[in-house]
Amino acid sequence: MADCIFCKIAGKEIPSTAVYEDDTVIAFRDLEPQAPVHVLVIPKKHIESVLGFGPEDRELAAHILADVIPQVAKEQGLTEKGFRVITNVGTDGGQTVPHLHFHILGGRSLQWPPG
Ligand code: AMP
Repeated sequence: MADCIFCKIAGKEIPSTAVYEDDTVIAFRDLEPQAPVHVLVIPKKHIESVLGFGPEDRELAAHILADVIPQVAKEQGLTEKGFRVITNVGTDGGQTVPHLHFHILGGRSLQWPPG
């Protein structure tokens, strides 16, 4: 989608530090990391949030959750001590980039609940 920063990252128009990539998904380091490991996992196609998943996206959703996130967490050394996966949705959810992304946060003890 024009003017979507994460579409531009997926299309390599804007640089990012990718830690994982395949045909449908890319994962890259957050510009303003909130933990020693802070990676964003996004579908390459533009989906605004989890509310935007259609029936045709079931395989993609499962791939992100069941394959990519566990693989990135393992490769980033997070599986022994644990980590957090978050997706913010809309204004009250604190979503600032309207392209679906899952934050993977780890490498320190995380507090709960978030603010
Ligand atoms: P959210 O507030 O859940 O929408 O998260 C958006 C995240 O994207 C924030 O943690 C930002 O730091 C991050 N971010 C914004 N622009 C970039 C970028 N060009 N490269 C990497 N991370 C970014």
